[in-house]
Amino acid sequence: RIAAVDGSADAGVHAFLHVDAEGALAAAVASDERRAAGAPLHALDGVPVAVKDVLTTTGLPTTCGSKILEGWIPPYDATVVRRLKDAGLPILGKTNMDEFAMGSSTEHSAYGPTRNPWDLERIPGGSGGGSAAAVAAFEAPLALGTDTGGSIRQPGAVTGTVGVKPTYGGVSRYGLVAMANSLDQVGPVTRTVLDAALLHELIGGHDPLDSTSVDQPVPGLVEAARQGATGDLTGLRVGVITELQGEGYQAGVLARFHESLELLTAAGAEVVEVSCPSFVHALATYYLVMPCEASSNLAKFDAMRYGMRVLPEGVDAPSAEQVMRATRDAGFGDEVKRRIILGTYALSSGYYDAYYGTAQRVRTLISRDFEAAFGQVDVLVSPTAPTTAFKLGEKLDDPLAMYLNDLATIPANLAGVPGISLPSGLADEDGLPAGFQVLAPAMADDRLYRVGAALE
Ligand code: GLN
Repeated sequence: RIAAVDGSADAGVHAFLHVDAEGALAAAVASDERRAAGAPLHALDGVPVAVKDVLTTTGLPTTCGSKILEGWIPPYDATVVRRLKDAGLPILGKTNMDEFAMGSSTEHSAYGPTRNPWDLERIPGGSGGGSAAAVAAFEAPLALGTDTGGSIRQPGAVTGTVGVKPTYGGVSRYGLVAMANSLDQVGPVTRTVLDAALLHELIGGHDPLDSTSVDQPVPGLVEAARQGATGDLTGLRVGVITELQGEGYQAGVLARFHESLELLTAAGAEVVEVSCPSFVHALATYYLVMPCEASSNLAKFDAMRYGMRVLPEGVDAPSAEQVMRATRDAGFGDEVKRRIILGTYALSSGYYDAYYGTAQRVRTLISRDFEAAFGQVDVLVSPTAPTTAFKLGEKLDDPLAMYLNDLATIPANLAGVPGISLPSGLADEDGLPAGFQVLAPAMADDRLYRVGAALE
């Protein structure tokens, strides 16, 4: 299937940056042998999975969609990758992404964009467009993504797949090349809610290698999905977020959203409106916190330790700083440079408190809005993204228009709470998939699966 539809950066879906046919086949054969021998098998043993190229994999390149890491083969596996391998899932390869996970369309990949399988002229969302497109195009039944401001959920919404951002600390970040440590989470991208629950349970749980990993058992996600599949949500209180609907949302996306609300009511849930007034500042807060953390994280690409090294032209014995400057100039794309500059500026002395300090305070207000809301309802809902998939190139020269895609997904990352995007049907005006987002309190990821399976 990959050979038939993936093509290249110029044509086809281009979901994959590297395909490991040999490794995947060997793992599949080993799985068959275990089955034949009657060994105890994980439910997903032998089911192939695609992995976003921001997670380290021994023996397979990890580029983060950047030229600066071209050819780098990590010496260790991310914890989530290790767990996939231990459970017997063949890893098909590494999926395309916006460079260092900065973007909402996968057009910022240094290796060319991924295309939306629903319409190859349109974007598959981002930054994890490769993982979502691979699942939507039937190139992989399961995939892993990462979500810092929506990079699992928004691609899920625009490709008609299921995407989950777990509770912060619920899934190990060890071996996830950090963009913004306090926001990043690894999660599943799948075609069904039950698949996502199985994959999430497998990768989740405590990891001593990640200091922010929560040392608590993962709530029964598969069990919650099975419960939800009965279609009964009696007693569940659902809050529609006032601030995340209306202006700026495409009519067809809103129509599918309201239809999903009716389905929830029909399943016995009680639907009310809940206001989260600080959410209107979430985008501005994110675009300070995230570049600040990213500018610091990306300082390690110094031409000495990983990947690419460019020697400045016409310099006989260049200094380390000159090599670093030439390498970073050639190795990073425009969006990455934009955010490094933004983050460095906001963190500089004299501005630190005005920008970073203020953003952190607003972040607290956003967390408090969630706490107050979850005092009244069990889950919160909104459309996942304001529009369906837009055309390639449409927002590439307008960073602010690109950032606005994350309006509804960002609050969850700022507060660390979990969220799922579910396919809610096709928008009438363009026939493209729309997404329905469900958010739950921290460590109550099971609620996402109960509601998700009931809507499926
Ligand atoms: N689109 C957002 C950004 O550009 C979110 C990215 C992500 O979640 N990795 O930062």
